[in-house]
Amino acid sequence: MDHSPAAVPGPLADPGEILRRVFGLQDFRGQQAAVIAHVTQGQDAIVLMPTGGGKSLCYQLPALCRRGVGVVVSPLIALMRDQVAGLRQLGVAAAALNSSLSGAERAEVRADLRAGRLKLLYAAPERLLMPDFLEMLDGVEIALFAIDEAHCVSQWGHDFRPEYLELAKLAAWFPGVPRLALTATADPQTREDIGRRLALEGARLFLSSFDRPNIRYAVLRKEAPLRQLLTFLRAHEGESGIVYCLSRNTVEQTAAALNAHGIRALPYHARLPPEVRAANQDEFLTTEEGLVLVATVAFGMGIDKPDVRFVAHLDLPASLEAFYQETGRAGRDGLPAETLLLYGMQDLVMRRGMIEQSNAPAEVKQVERAKLDALLGVCETITCRRQAILAHFGETLPEPCGNCDNCLTPAATWDGTVAAQKALSAVWRTRQRFGVGHLTDLLLGVKTEKIERFEHDQLPTFGVGTELDRKGWGSVFRQLIVLGAVEVDHENFGALRLAGPGEAILRGKETVRLRQEPAATSARGLLKKKNTRLEVAPQDQPLFEALRAERTRLAKEQNVPAYVIFHDATLAALAAARPANLAALAQIPGLGASKLERYGRAILEIIGAG
Ligand code: ADP
Ligand code: ZN
Repeated sequence: MDHSPAAVPGPLADPGEILRRVFGLQDFRGQQAAVIAHVTQGQDAIVLMPTGGGKSLCYQLPALCRRGVGVVVSPLIALMRDQVAGLRQLGVAAAALNSSLSGAERAEVRADLRAGRLKLLYAAPERLLMPDFLEMLDGVEIALFAIDEAHCVSQWGHDFRPEYLELAKLAAWFPGVPRLALTATADPQTREDIGRRLALEGARLFLSSFDRPNIRYAVLRKEAPLRQLLTFLRAHEGESGIVYCLSRNTVEQTAAALNAHGIRALPYHARLPPEVRAANQDEFLTTEEGLVLVATVAFGMGIDKPDVRFVAHLDLPASLEAFYQETGRAGRDGLPAETLLLYGMQDLVMRRGMIEQSNAPAEVKQVERAKLDALLGVCETITCRRQAILAHFGETLPEPCGNCDNCLTPAATWDGTVAAQKALSAVWRTRQRFGVGHLTDLLLGVKTEKIERFEHDQLPTFGVGTELDRKGWGSVFRQLIVLGAVEVDHENFGALRLAGPGEAILRGKETVRLRQEPAATSARGLLKKKNTRLEVAPQDQPLFEALRAERTRLAKEQNVPAYVIFHDATLAALAAARPANLAALAQIPGLGASKLERYGRAILEIIGAG
């Protein structure tokens, strides 16, 4: 364990000074300064910040400013391990207590804790309330309790963990010790649950903007998913990212196909043996070279890898919340990151069907429908996607963002009134008993066996829609569903029937503007519009690579992920500024006192040689 002097500041420590000296960072971000001042003074807080917003500093720094040890409740071992490794790099005495420790390791943590040598102690929620743990804490000075991923206390969300409910007891057991709950989940219901169920009603709420300006959003009509994915991935060569699929089968097939195309990919889903899953996750976390993790939603919670450069969805997520959380795993380091969502008619029908056919109570279904519709709205919007997303979370972005596909390549629209009338008429005249495929055959005038059997070639609508092709009609029907003009009858094999404004449109009382679908092949042009990679000038590239090689060596030697040593941004800043001495080196973001001491000389040598 590391006990360098950086870890033992006095009781009157100044947060700004510690930020610079220990963390090597210049300024607080957003609400960090306010939260840290509040907690350092001994007050409770609820902190809502988007992923990558910098929540860790909100409890790490007050723990360093106050007397005693900061106890951090965290649900995931991988996350604890990374945070502890990161803190030790900074010269902060940190440890984690979890089921992966040996008896000897546990005894060492205990001894350090009892001797007052630890500044931060991470523990899983179920462990925290066990008698032996409480007994261990007895008589130990505690700086604060931080409850990370606090939305786990809410039954409303999808990450509910019953053991979180027990954490309310901390209030009575440790009176006077400040507690802070942190989460990246934004909805008001969850927020209320956190206050009530963790006995934090009196805590001050720190609410940040949920915008992630460095993440680019793009949505494409799903045509040939693998080809579209390959195009997207080719623009990200050498980078790591996540591809989400709905089913285990798609995960396996996609991972295999990517490998066959020379792109290194690993699968991750709940049915893999636990040791394979753990190994794949580990490899993803520690690999610096391009590696794609193809996963179901089983992957992701507590993934702290800061340099995930892209997230692609091959299937539609269940809600805007899920989409935002999953895409939010990209670009935690603040550098540009890209997301791509492929979505088609099938996704829409299937997601709606999953809700309708579930056994959930009616009120739950209502909420799920609304959350799915919010996502569909973002998919179909012809204006800024970020504005649409943030609006759903109750935030107003005054100007279009300039960093989504709709902003970069404004979508063309067309007057779809006549096409919509034809489509709706096809629905009506076939007595609202057929699905999109058959209706399209009817509009295109294709004499299938089914058309002939029902004598649909006798209808006036037969063959009136040859101005569009099959994809064109698919797009019209999809947009009509999202507009609510038709609904899918899931009891009846996906038959369409008129709904909402459908009748008014059919009778010519309402007009419709539809979105012109960009050709799928334009994906590459679209996504390549701005170079989203880390900015390293060509003349700095050799030095950047040399520094990166040294980082890899150090990471291997210490058996930690490379980003725990330095972030890419730190390497890029070093390669550009080429500091010649320790004083200049200290100006580079990410180089605190402890890292300067450990690595400063080696870095200066590499720069001198380059
Ligand atoms: P969260 O837990 O909110 O998702 P983290 O605490 O992991 O976010 O922080 C995300 C990233 O931002 C980390 O790489 C961290 O080093 C960096 N970071 C946090 N605060 C600052 C700051 N004030 N200045 C620069 N970088 C910061
Ligand atoms: Zn935009």
